[in-house]
Amino acid sequence: IQRILVLSGAGVSCSAGIPDFRTPGSGLYDNLEKYNLPYPEAVFDLGFYQSNSQPFVDLAKELWPGRNHSPTLSHSFLALLNKKGKLMRNYTQNIDGLECLAGVSEEHIVECHGHFRTSACIDCGIPFDGKEARDTILNLSAAPICPKCGGLVKPDIVFFGESLPVRFKNLLHKDLSTNDLLIVMGTSLKVAPV
Ligand code: ZN
Repeated sequence: IQRILVLSGAGVSCSAGIPDFRTPGSGLYDNLEKYNLPYPEAVFDLGFYQSNSQPFVDLAKELWPGRNHSPTLSHSFLALLNKKGKLMRNYTQNIDGLECLAGVSEEHIVECHGHFRTSACIDCGIPFDGKEARDTILNLSAAPICPKCGGLVKPDIVFFGESLPVRFKNLLHKDLSTNDLLIVMGTSLKVAPV
């Protein structure tokens, strides 16, 4: 077996201390009261972000890769598969970036719900410097502002209603038809379209 496809979800990051989103009680959505959101999913809603970017900014500070959380044994397993040349691709639903941190090469990862490495303006769509976005969010606790149009910038995390990254669509069909083995781990497969 040479071409292993891995689909992973929140379960692989739980032991890193990252709450999953939907588990009743301990899940992230049940622990957002402090933000006073109209409904939990608003934290990933573009319209809400426009009116109040602070809940997402605070969440981004908590989840920003390399700050508060370290890769788990599951991520090391992915890195090992990659090192041995057997990882065809890891499709992850997570936005914590722990696959990358564990040493899986970007070429072998498809982050279905986006990542924090790049950012763009939500109004004009122009890409915004990733490092500057990071500094603004982490050091100033604020959403960066687009220098072109004055709109809000957000990291390229997929919000509700946004399409999945082009990379997902570009690779999915070929990867599904040419792999030798599919491993599904840490996901209840309840979030569409994954
Ligand atoms: Zn703009």
